[in-house]
Parts: sequence; C-alpha cells; structure tokens
Amino acid sequence: MSDPRTPGLVHCGALECWEFMPSTLDPNLRRALAERIRFYNDLGIFDFYRREVTGVDPVEGCWGTQPEPEQQEDMARTETAITVLEAGKGPFEAANREREFSSADPAQALRAIREDLGDCVRCRLHKQGRKQIVFGVGNPNAELMFIGEAPGADEDEQGEPFVGRAGQLLNNMIKAMGLRREDVYIANIIKCRPPGNRTPERDECETCSPFLMRQIAVIKPKVIVALGAVAAKTLLAINAPMSELRGQWYDFRGTKLAVTYHPAFLLRDPRQKKEAWKDLQMVMKELGLHVTMRASE
Ligand code: URA
Repeated sequence: MSDPRTPGLVHCGALECWEFMPSTLDPNLRRALAERIRFYNDLGIFDFYRREVTGVDPVEGCWGTQPEPEQQEDMARTETAITVLEAGKGPFEAANREREFSSADPAQALRAIREDLGDCVRCRLHKQGRKQIVFGVGNPNAELMFIGEAPGADEDEQGEPFVGRAGQLLNNMIKAMGLRREDVYIANIIKCRPPGNRTPERDECETCSPFLMRQIAVIKPKVIVALGAVAAKTLLAINAPMSELRGQWYDFRGTKLAVTYHPAFLLRDPRQKKEAWKDLQMVMKELGLHVTMRASE
C-alpha cells in the first residue's frame, strides 16, 4: 500500500502485509518476511521504504510479482532483500539496520542504533534545553540491564546515565550484588533530560522507547531491572503502584523483568533500601550470584 503523504513509502502493519503477500510467494520467503515485519512492528516500526537493490526490487519481487526461481532458493539473497526493505528514514538508516541485525558483535550493533538516533529531534525535548543524548552505558553482553526513567542534570552534562547522586547509589547497589558497573548495562526509558527533571510525557516515552527496545534486543540480557514506576509502567504497560509492582517476576518479550525502587526515591526514603535489597536478592538468585544477607550500604 503506498502512502499518499510520502512518495515511495510503503505503509503496512504486520497483518496487512501478511494479507497482501501473494499466495504464490515461496512459503519460506513468505514466513521470513512475515517474521521480520512482526519483529519491526514489535519495535514500534510500521513504515517501510522502497529501495532498489541490484537485480531485485524487493517490493515488486516480494509483494507484486513472482520472484525468480533462484531468489526462492537462495535464502541468503532473500535475507538481503528483506534487510533492504528497511524501516526508517532512508539509506543511512537501512545501512545501520543491516549492521544491527547482521552483526554478531553487540557493541557494533549498539553503535548502529546510536547512529540511527543521530542528533535526535523526534520529540519536543530536543528544543527544551537538553545538552546531549544519553544513550546508555555498560557491557554490550551484559546479563543484567538496569533501566531508569530519564537523564537528570548530571547525566545531561556528562552524556552517561546514572552519574549523579542516584547513580552513586545505583553503583553501590550493583557492588552489593557482587558486580561492577562495567558488568551491567544501564539505560533509561528516554534519552534526553526533561526540563526541570519533570516526569517524561507519555508521547516522549513512546517516541524514544523503540530505541531502548532495540538496545535490549541486541544486548539480550538475562534479567532486566526496571528502576521506579516510570520504567516499570512503560515497559510492562501496567498502571499499578510500586508496592504492587515489586517483588515478582514479569515476562518482558521473553526476558525476565523485576521492578525495584528508583535510587532517587531511596535517597529520599532510605528506610526502603531493605525492600530494594530484597528485590536485588531475587535478581541475584536468578543470575546465580552469591546471595548475602545484608547489603554493605
Ligand atoms: N535518574 C534516572 O532515571 N536516570 C538517570 O540516568 C539518572 C537519574
């Protein structure tokens, strides 16, 4: 389906595309395309762009006419055609996506996502005083990923998540688990500081979080810890108080997710640290880390 607003744009939701695929299409190709489109849709991407590749126009080849017999046989070429049917804004993004999905090296894939993000102007925060984008930091192969809410003043200044007072407490929490900050990956739901550290708006979370989803998909942590209500509610799409969200496991797209208090909240109410420590012990058990009775801080 072409989009009258944008020439060359093929607009499709996964199911629509699935329906529009000709039944003559090779079943393997059909399945591979449907899976790839669903994957993009899961990441919140619904617009696909037509781009010529040598020897095959992927849109005509896959959606319009019967593909050549050798295309049907050659799954490697099929993958290339699928990759060129990239979501996003154009050739640069397509190239980055190719690096992201084909790379066995998560560090390289993360760099490709960072490049896609560019000097982002997708939401209002870019003109509301942010100094820089705070992408995420840590081990690209991390088993444990912490996700906070949004950068604050220190993070905006330094370009790294959790480097202020809340970050120091998070570092202590990580240490108490027997890990180092460099062992885990740390990111936020949104990548730009909201003015005055206000809570991120829903549309800002929706615009920004697809990039976080891609980071998670690349890192493939064993466990995600959502720090605070904004992270928990955005990731789980549930509206419940922290007291109900904590203390249990959730399935986040096949990854175990636990919720605990945000370190900034713990700075305001240190009595809750022992509750947070219970959450972290649950996580340590899952990761096979030695569970001690008391946190050092
Ligand atoms: N609070 C957050 O949620 N994230 C940061 O990076 C810093 C403070």
